Amino acid sequence: MNITFELQQLDDLMIEHTRPPVTTMLGNKLHPLGEQMEKYIAAKEQDANDAAEIKSVFLKLKQEKPAVDAQLEKIKKEDTRFVDGLLSERGTNAGGKRLPVCPVCNIPVQIHKRMVNVMCSDSLCKWASDFPPENGRRILSRL
Ligand SMILES: [Zn+2]
Repeated sequence: MNITFELQQLDDLMIEHTRPPVTTMLGNKLHPLGEQMEKYIAAKEQDANDAAEIKSVFLKLKQEKPAVDAQLEKIKKEDTRFVDGLLSERGTNAGGKRLPVCPVCNIPVQIHKRMVNVMCSDSLCKWASDFPPENGRRILSRL
């Protein structure tokens, strides 16, 4: 059933079988319904287009997921990697967690979470990061 067609037939019947002012009164009730129906149909078409786009993106991401998972597993197995220019190593004395190491003497650095500052844990080395706090936060979040 095509609702737009049915409404048009009803309009035609009203014009054919009623006389003013009844024709006008019924038309004033019917015509807004037609306009509402057109808006509803347009919204449904937009919803269908949105759903098709979401499905397309979902299928693309689903297709990419195995490669991303494989890359993640590879990264998890790496003993060392760089995070924002700071080498981090998986430490056995840190429960298998990554520890960023000093770029000068290669021993684990201290990270002051409150100041988001990174410095060498060897007091003789005295190396300290000179990057802005947001880099320190990023390093912490990616270890
Ligand atoms: Zn150092």
